[in-house]
Amino acid sequence: MGAPGSVAASSCIFCAIAQKKAPAYIVYEDEDTLAFLDIAPLSRGHTLVIPKAHVDRITDLPPARYASVLATVTEICRRMERLSRDYNIGVNQGPLAGQIVFHLHFHVIPRYAHQVGGFPRERLPLAPEEARALLRELGPG
Ligand code: AMP
Ligand code: ZN
Repeated sequence: MGAPGSVAASSCIFCAIAQKKAPAYIVYEDEDTLAFLDIAPLSRGHTLVIPKAHVDRITDLPPARYASVLATVTEICRRMERLSRDYNIGVNQGPLAGQIVFHLHFHVIPRYAHQVGGFPRERLPLAPEEARALLRELGPG
């Protein structure tokens, strides 16, 4: 039994994605990290960056992984700037902070002029054709 809100790695959707047992639109991958499109994006291009090895909280991330995770977040930001120079980088930790997937992930959420008022209340599922277009736009270049 883990702490409330924690989840065994064996039932973790992001572990399943990292192990290619669940589908995802993968933007970037290396040995330690993975970046993929959020399935219910807050804005066009919303991407998640994860360490492949399961940890729930940033305080549990082994220091040996700090560099690879930050390098991937930065690489995604660099690519995101093709869509918008403005973006939020965020981590929700714990249910009170809005965490719903208990595998550490960094959100990179581009911001657009038409969304200055905030994020939409209703999050629409990412359409496959939109995902394919985004993968082209966010590719290695
Ligand atoms: P958080 O609230 O920080 O835990 O955010 C979890 C994010 O993961 C949400 O933005 C979800 O839309 C996203 N998400 C959940 N399941 C998947 C999935 N299978 N593939 C891609 N994104 C997902
Ligand atoms: Zn996991």
